[in-house]
Amino acid sequence: MAIFDAHCDVLYRMHHDNQLRFDQANGLHITYEYLKQAKAKVQCFALFVPDTLPQEIKFKTALDMIDLLHQEILDRHSDIHLIRTRQDIDALGEDEVGIMLTLEGVDAIDIDLVKLRTLFRLGVRSVGMTWNNANAACDGALESRKAGLSDFGRRIVRENNRFKVWTDVSHISEKGFWDVLEEAEFPIASHSNVKALCNHPRNLTDEQMKALFDKGGVMGITFVPSFLNESGKAQIADILKHIDYAASLGGANHLGFGSDFDGIETTPRELTNYGDYPVLINELLKHYSEDMVKGLLFENFYRAMPL
Ligand SMILES: [Zn+2]
Repeated sequence: MAIFDAHCDVLYRMHHDNQLRFDQANGLHITYEYLKQAKAKVQCFALFVPDTLPQEIKFKTALDMIDLLHQEILDRHSDIHLIRTRQDIDALGEDEVGIMLTLEGVDAIDIDLVKLRTLFRLGVRSVGMTWNNANAACDGALESRKAGLSDFGRRIVRENNRFKVWTDVSHISEKGFWDVLEEAEFPIASHSNVKALCNHPRNLTDEQMKALFDKGGVMGITFVPSFLNESGKAQIADILKHIDYAASLGGANHLGFGSDFDGIETTPRELTNYGDYPVLINELLKHYSEDMVKGLLFENFYRAMPL
């Protein structure tokens, strides 16, 4: 069954540690073999530029990560392609994999929309305003000020709309979430879970989920153990609880997965890396109809693509 996974940090890890190889099982959650083994169809690769880097090297760091994607992954594998649109996905062969670039936090563009548009032209198809802290666009989920979008942040969302790019509300402050919902034509939550089941500031309230679903957005249930279970230890059963809860709020056709593989240090017990996706698929098929499972795994995010 085809898989569309809306978030991972493999580029960040490879950029951070140049010993890590996409072609070897050497500690990455996502490798060439794992993607092929689990029959990945679309994997989103985030550009995550830590806010601790000096501003003058942040944009260059995002470009370095895109270069790494081409040099180490796309140029070496004729069956992996950068995709931008549904048409690009439709054009993939049976065993081919599409990679979609996403931006996790706009720190890399400073206050320069030229840099944002340059990233769009290089393939970025989704923009999250910030990581957990504040930046020029918005406050993140862990920022004590709890502010929403700045005027610059609103300009970014309008630019996302104009270029038909997703605006990703994962990591954003609650106020920021509501500002984005007001402004964005294509909102998603690439990797977030249900707050009522696990009270973490990164998770979404019932009202937030309902508003996102009403706007046609999709929420990627994430495998981050501390967003699945307050004990910090999670298993597939926890993932099913989050799906059931969000589906009961009208989300049955608005849910997918955003694993956060390679952005997490621990994983749910049965999902130690991307190659374990089939274990999750088997469990899903025991609990839900085949149509619902296809929606969760692939079709809901695919259908929500702006282009
Ligand atoms: Zn994240």
